[in-house]
Amino acid sequence: IPVTTFKECQVALFGLGGSGLATAKALVAGGARVTAWDDNPDSVAKAKAAGIPTADLKTVDWSAQAAFILSPGVPLTHPKPHWTVELARAAGVEIIGDVELFVRERRVHAPDCPFIAITGTNGKSTTTALIAHILRSSGRDMQLGGNIGTAVLTLEPPKAERYFVVECSSYQIDLAPTLNPTAGILLNLTPDHLDRHGTMQHYAEIKERLVAGAKTAIIGVDDSHSALIADRVERAGVKVRRISNRSVVADGLYADASRIFEAQSGASSSLVDLDGIQTLKGSHNAQNAAAAIAACLAVGVSQEEIRVGLRSFPGLKHRMQPVGRRDQVVFVNDSKATNADAAAPALSSYERIYWIAGGLPKEGGIASLAPLFPRIVKAYLIGEAAPAFAATLGQASKYEISGSLEKAVAHAAADAAGDPAPSVVMLSPACASFDQFKNFEVRGDAFVDFVAALDGVTMLIG
Ligand code: ADP
Repeated sequence: IPVTTFKECQVALFGLGGSGLATAKALVAGGARVTAWDDNPDSVAKAKAAGIPTADLKTVDWSAQAAFILSPGVPLTHPKPHWTVELARAAGVEIIGDVELFVRERRVHAPDCPFIAITGTNGKSTTTALIAHILRSSGRDMQLGGNIGTAVLTLEPPKAERYFVVECSSYQIDLAPTLNPTAGILLNLTPDHLDRHGTMQHYAEIKERLVAGAKTAIIGVDDSHSALIADRVERAGVKVRRISNRSVVADGLYADASRIFEAQSGASSSLVDLDGIQTLKGSHNAQNAAAAIAACLAVGVSQEEIRVGLRSFPGLKHRMQPVGRRDQVVFVNDSKATNADAAAPALSSYERIYWIAGGLPKEGGIASLAPLFPRIVKAYLIGEAAPAFAATLGQASKYEISGSLEKAVAHAAADAAGDPAPSVVMLSPACASFDQFKNFEVRGDAFVDFVAALDGVTMLIG
């Protein structure tokens, strides 16, 4: 998307990682006079090679800059660019990010094109991917980007009938003062990232902006912060649709154990049955699915199109994804669960679990998961955390110290094959991966490879 809104204008840009570089290119393509910089000389060299004018931002004339563009990876409070932020502020230069640039392009070229923005503490990527999948499977022209991995400015340009699905981090919202999605989703708000945002109140205020600017605000109201935001945004005149797993809502969507209902003008009707949708197991996914459905309804997707899309959703890699099946055993990759909190939803979602866990331990270990231990038929412990996890499991469930992931998969698969009841073999490590793997993606891919190598397994993913 060439950024035309700064044509002929001078802009300074800091942060030349993936999306920063994409942003710089989009600005240059649209005719802006860019001065870009990064602390990392390699990134500067790469930008130079791509034809981006670079210079230390100490040397720019701040009074001549039309804007200061910060890369989403670089929060305002980051100590490195902090002095540049101060200089920009002192000169009265606005500080914005790539999502804001996208929003302005849309406003100029296709103000009515459907734009769904998603934020929240947990479930952003799942919800974003699910919405994108429903739109795509219904045959719509759809562009997916933002925090989920594709920089928004690398997408196709906005035009009528083109749908944009954009996951937004708090940093991106913070740097997008005129964010105005057709449907804005705030899934939930729990203390997280407070190290970078200071207080919960500030974090909540930033997230609130995404729904406050929306035409339809879709808000998960099962936590107290989000519930208050829903009330406030509604009082300000925004159409609010509430999402809950806990209680019936007056206008919005709510889920019981397996079904999602839509409530409207006092009446409610069952929309979809989640039973049998392997990739949307667990109450956290019911929240994600309900929010995704509400967003699709808000942009005119029919109930039938939504049902079809939900049923064929392949799930997100490394997040509770069913990857293979052998008889009554489903193999689940939840490698993204790098701490106990993140492993909790996966363990809550299944009854008979052959659990592969361990890696580089995090503070607190798995003590908080104790209420879920009865679901674990046996644990297969790997990596540095194995002895500590074994000690925490104690008498609560059987375990073995498998050591390597390969052994853990082989042993768990063999044990599960002898189980007369349906069960899962699940990697949900509750640990970082760095003792044995480069990152959680590599760990998850290794799990998938070991599963695929087992005799008689049908793989569920491409
Ligand atoms: P995000 O993009 O916000 O990090 P993901 O969709 O990648 O979230 O999900 C990451 C993990 O967060 C999942 O594996 C699951 O354990 C947990 N999770 C997902 N959705 C929710 C939710 N709605 N509420 C609480 N936890 C969730």
